[in-house]
Amino acid sequence: MTDYSDLPSMLADLSTCRACAEAGYDIYSTPIVAGQQAARLMVVGQAPSGADAQSNIPFTGEAGSRLFDWLKRAGWDDEESFRQTAYITSVTKCFPGEKENGSGDRQASAKERKLCRKWLDAEIALVRPEVIVPVGSLAVKLFYPPQLQLADVIGESMIDAQGRHIVPLPHPSGASRWLNNPHNVGRLEQALYRLRTLKADLGL
Ligand code: SF4
Repeated sequence: MTDYSDLPSMLADLSTCRACAEAGYDIYSTPIVAGQQAARLMVVGQAPSGADAQSNIPFTGEAGSRLFDWLKRAGWDDEESFRQTAYITSVTKCFPGEKENGSGDRQASAKERKLCRKWLDAEIALVRPEVIVPVGSLAVKLFYPPQLQLADVIGESMIDAQGRHIVPLPHPSGASRWLNNPHNVGRLEQALYRLRTLKADLGL
């Protein structure tokens, strides 16, 4: 539950959050989320990328380009209008930095994800989206029983206890091994079809 009555108040407090740094994590303490309280669709990514940290806008890097290619196929032809009407956030709001060996971005730890959970709960409570699109396994697992795998849920329809449509997507990284499996490409196509149908039915 949230004690906030409006999104700007919550975002003001979120912008000052240093919980991960105070817990000893060497992260970029700049929460990156975007959107309006009236948004009817919420995208929940895993964590901002380095490109997102530079632009201060979620999903602006390579993975963002791929995500918007997918959304285009689901009927959102224009990235800017999507950004203006959706709310885009992530499991952890701050760029976690790169791995020590330089092989990509570090994945936020379970402790960081737990520290950040209250902010996502507050965002969902305030925005009250009709459709939630969790992107990537860390985001998807927040909405499903932990034993389920991506292959069990991508492309499947789900309405949660609050009546929200949950449409999970895999992580759009070009390096995603999950998408190397042709069966999984079919699951992605089914998920995009599901989004396209919801867009039409709900007038999103
Ligand atoms: S990732 Fe979340 S909990 Fe951690 S400092 Fe950023 S906003 Fe706070």
